[in-house]
Amino acid sequence: MLKLTLPRKVILLFVLSIVPAAIGIIFCDRLEILLPAIFIVLLNFGFAVKMLLKAMGDFNEAIAVIRKISYGDYSVKIDTTRNKELEVVDVMARKLKDHDLYLSQRSYQTAMLKELAERISTSLDARDAMEIISGSLNKVVSYSTVSYIAFEKNDQIIFKCHLEESISRAFTEEIKKKMLDAFRALTDAPIADDNIKTVYFGTIFDESARDPVRSFFNLPMIIGGKLVGLINVASTKPGLYTEQEVAILYVIVEQAGSTITKIRSVLAEEMGKINSMLAAVNEGLIMVAREGDLLVINREAERFLGISGKESISTFDVIHALYGIFDFRGAMDQVLNSGQTETFPKIKVGGKHYKISASPVRNNKDEKHAVVFVFSDVTQEEEIDEMKSEFISTTSHQLRTPLSSMKWFLEMMINGDTGALNDKQKEVVTDIYNSNERIIALVNDLLDVSRIESGKMRPEPTPTNLVEFINSMLVDLKAQFAKRSQEFSFEHPESLPRIPVDPKLVWQILQNLLSNAAKYTPEKGKITLALSLEPENILVKVTDNGLGIPEFQKHRLFEKFFRADNVNKSDGTGLGLYISRKIAETSGGKLWFESTEGKGSIFYFTIPLAVVQPSAKVA
Ligand code: ADP
Repeated sequence: MLKLTLPRKVILLFVLSIVPAAIGIIFCDRLEILLPAIFIVLLNFGFAVKMLLKAMGDFNEAIAVIRKISYGDYSVKIDTTRNKELEVVDVMARKLKDHDLYLSQRSYQTAMLKELAERISTSLDARDAMEIISGSLNKVVSYSTVSYIAFEKNDQIIFKCHLEESISRAFTEEIKKKMLDAFRALTDAPIADDNIKTVYFGTIFDESARDPVRSFFNLPMIIGGKLVGLINVASTKPGLYTEQEVAILYVIVEQAGSTITKIRSVLAEEMGKINSMLAAVNEGLIMVAREGDLLVINREAERFLGISGKESISTFDVIHALYGIFDFRGAMDQVLNSGQTETFPKIKVGGKHYKISASPVRNNKDEKHAVVFVFSDVTQEEEIDEMKSEFISTTSHQLRTPLSSMKWFLEMMINGDTGALNDKQKEVVTDIYNSNERIIALVNDLLDVSRIESGKMRPEPTPTNLVEFINSMLVDLKAQFAKRSQEFSFEHPESLPRIPVDPKLVWQILQNLLSNAAKYTPEKGKITLALSLEPENILVKVTDNGLGIPEFQKHRLFEKFFRADNVNKSDGTGLGLYISRKIAETSGGKLWFESTEGKGSIFYFTIPLAVVQPSAKVA
């Protein structure tokens, strides 16, 4: 229904009176028309007077409530219940809006509200809101002190008072008392005097000052229908605050409170949706703020960490549950420093395997303010993987002995130890020998993979002169390069320190990278092996000007059995790079590459100068 303001109602009555008045004037000689016309005009006049009287009554009622709460006029005992009282404040604020008083000050109030809304939207905390409001009041009124009292997180009460002018301690004590009286009158919460934290700031006290509190008012802060705090403005000067000013400030504080109430209820609704979504997710999710507060933990995470049912779960509980299994705090630092998603080695908790990844969460200022961890249960995949590895390992072992015997017999046949072969027979037997060699290479690769995955491949470092060692091993490979007329060079510093490495493992990586370079570089191509000394590593670089790796397949290069499309039917198992990278990592180094298809590739790996403790298991 259309709601009319007071001035509009008066105008309507005026219009409704003009018509009968005009009819009365025109038909003034006809009494049966004149008398009803006069009656209607008088009736409208009566309505107008009644409306004005009611409006004045409403206004006075609102002002009376303001006076009672604002000026601490508790001489009359509040006989309504607490909620009733708060309702009255609410009704009063709404009534104020209906009055000319509100209209005349609207632009001034709107400016103030806009500023508050902008600042409050960054915080939904009642105490922050009161801090913001009391900090802005100097633009509206003058005062000696502005103070607020509010509940802290631990149910303690804080009384914070800003001294704009030097006043005596007795002045602030009086303010504190007035505010606590008002607070106690309006809330059921028990407020013990020894549970009040007092904070003064602003200018210093003047103990010689004698001025008492001469003007003051309180503004209640209501959020979600509950009194959460009180703001007080006080001065040594008398009669400073008009009822109009106080009324406007009431509306401002009431609107700030209702803004927070609305935003909180929207947030609560959204959080409800997010929480039910999180509860339905199979992965364990944990979100921790940069400062360490636990922001989110879903049911699955609580369950596998064995902390479900605890009353309040903190980050400490998570760290404690993962102690000795996963360095939660270290992982957080790593993600906050790198600013990107990190994955961590799998962990085993309560007989189950979990894959862990963690990503930074940014706020609207693009600051990393939290980290979200995802724990995915990969027990089934892990079990299948273990079974696969076991199968491969057993069959490879079983195959190795007959394959070695075959190799031995084939060698004897080729050498003529079992009787002379004709050319055709020799050709066929040599083909069988080469195929057997390929199967032996595959079996060896498979055995290496299972050794790596079961954690049985452990570096055994001995002090080694790398340049001498590599030179001694290069003979076979040099023959391979020569066969394809490839130019090979080995570049290294004049002298390198002897470093503790496992030469077998270093050679396994190098042999794989160099034979790949030979395989995937056309005849007459160029291959370079270069060593350089870095502060903490030796950097090994294998460069070729061969086929290169297609851009769209680069991300798959270290997958088991992966071979790029451009290598066609050339020999290979797709296991060499996988094994090489794992060995480099187990030895504390890294392996990576750069490549342009059609131009060539550079493979790099690092060997740490210091001995690195081998990791228990590289998954
Ligand atoms: P394999 O060489 O037995 O196929 P690897 O794991 O050593 O297995 O290599 C995997 C794949 O990476 C190769 O099949 C090839 O596609 C690509 N690759 C490796 N090294 C090179 C290189 N130097 N140039 C071009 N492609 C390469």
